[in-house]
Amino acid sequence: MKCPACASEMKVSVVQEVEIDRCRGCGGVVLDKGETEVVEQLQLEHVIDGGIVATHQRRTTPAHCYECNREMIALRGAGDVEYDWCDGCERLFFDQGELTALASVSAD
Ligand SMILES: [Zn+2]
Ligand SMILES: [Zn+2]
Repeated sequence: MKCPACASEMKVSVVQEVEIDRCRGCGGVVLDKGETEVVEQLQLEHVIDGGIVATHQRRTTPAHCYECNREMIALRGAGDVEYDWCDGCERLFFDQGELTALASVSAD
């Protein structure tokens, strides 16, 4: 899968038995449909709200889903953190830093 932000090839990694796609170029993370439950289980919204992404810099170009060939929809969640959602395949894309908590629990 290509990264919605920079079009680099993403790498699959397993976090708590869930496969996520991580971009080695920009550090963005894609969650497939259903995996968004993991975000809730790990209470990532709350963690993000805690200021971990203080240095977050927003992209100037919209995220693009290469699976569906359409632009993703920017959403705003807890703590004013923006993330992107594809209304075709229902994947979520998080820029680097937005899922810092998820990365921190990865055993790799
Ligand atoms: Zn990328
Ligand atoms: Zn899509």
